[in-house]
Amino acid sequence: MSLFKNALKQLENAANILDLDKQTIDGLSKPQRIIKVIVPLRRDNGQIQHYTGFRVQHNDARGPFKGGIRFHPNVNLDEIKALAFWMSIKTAVVDIPFGGAKGGIIIDPATLSEAELQNLSRSFIRTIKEFIGEDKDVPAPDVNTTSQIMAWMTDEYCKLTQQNDLGVITGKPLQYGGSKGRETATGQGGFYVLEELAKKMNLVPAHTSIIIQGFGNVGGNFAMLAQKGGYKIVGLSDSSGAIYSQDGFDPQAVMEFKKQDNRIIKYNQGKKISNEELLIQECDVLAPAALENVITDKNANQIKAKIILELANGPTASHADLILRQKNITVAPDVMSNAGGVTVSYFEWVQNKTGFYWDEKTVLERLRPIMVNSFEAVWQMSEEKNLDLRTAAFVIAIQRIVQAMKARGRI
Ligand code: NAD
Repeated sequence: MSLFKNALKQLENAANILDLDKQTIDGLSKPQRIIKVIVPLRRDNGQIQHYTGFRVQHNDARGPFKGGIRFHPNVNLDEIKALAFWMSIKTAVVDIPFGGAKGGIIIDPATLSEAELQNLSRSFIRTIKEFIGEDKDVPAPDVNTTSQIMAWMTDEYCKLTQQNDLGVITGKPLQYGGSKGRETATGQGGFYVLEELAKKMNLVPAHTSIIIQGFGNVGGNFAMLAQKGGYKIVGLSDSSGAIYSQDGFDPQAVMEFKKQDNRIIKYNQGKKISNEELLIQECDVLAPAALENVITDKNANQIKAKIILELANGPTASHADLILRQKNITVAPDVMSNAGGVTVSYFEWVQNKTGFYWDEKTVLERLRPIMVNSFEAVWQMSEEKNLDLRTAAFVIAIQRIVQAMKARGRI
């Protein structure tokens, strides 16, 4: 299933509810700019290799384009177009002044030395330099790209402009213009959404079990916050496999273990199962926090969770969405549930532009109301128009983007 087709289906659902005309839908379904580049890299052995890279700028009606850069062998234009579209939706759901973009290079970064990784990151910035900028398009980390990579990229850009344009890229390390709280922001934002869902759906943390697929940055931080909040973490996984136990895990201990061994499947507690099996185990909340397209028409019918809290981008295929709706499973969509990351990226950009840096308490105090207000708006819209939460989030976002496009005379 094409991810971009999935995204267009979601757009179509929301557009029908908003009764948008054909011209407006057309404007939203096509990215404003698609950039394809060849990124040269001098390998350590002196040879030059060429890699394909993309930057897709979907819509900037509400502010500069914003979205991550991923390094992965499976990167392709269809995926980047979908992810860019979802960034436009996400920034509009949380109502921060950005549009949507995404980028990537087709490469397995594990095949590169540290020096090569740095050269590739700098080379990519040189190939797309005229299309990015703190008031134009602001990249960030994504799959396999780290704060260190963001620092190299920002440094390369600043060398080219001969200015300290720190706001050109977010997700930088604290020592070089990063924001406090960015590392944990996506998990934290997801936890705020869980707290709001709990109020609406009368969940009692001690009696609410959670399975988390993907125990990386997002899944790991979310697991630790949820456990601290009194929830029971009954299942966890990473790319090595999954562990499940009705008695619950201590995510902090699993994290410590993973730091040493790096494979969750070797953890000495719980039943060892496959990643596919984990998704269909008994639980109240299933939080996919790894990859796209993991809940499909093949497994949606077997899912036992009452709530799916999407922390990854695009974990549910559109056919599966229909099945989940029929089964009355509440899906808290990615464009709302994982928006904590881009929100703190926005805070980083504000801090870079003003040169005034906030403490972690201030970051969290500003993140919470943004997540809570967006959740409340999405929940209200879903009640008012009898929509699932995803469609409600899309309706709100598309309405905001269309209003900005109209105000600017673009449609
Ligand atoms: P990460 O690389 O830190 O973690 C990903 C985890 O998923 C790893 O533990 C990996 O082992 C695991 N994984 C890989 N394949 C798996 C599989 N088949 N089954 C189970 N686990 C598997 O990445 P991350 O930053 O935590 O991002 C996770 C997801 O969240 C991605 O979809 C990303 O686009 C999305 N996201 C991340 C952020 C952010 O701030 N990091 C923000 C918004 C959305």
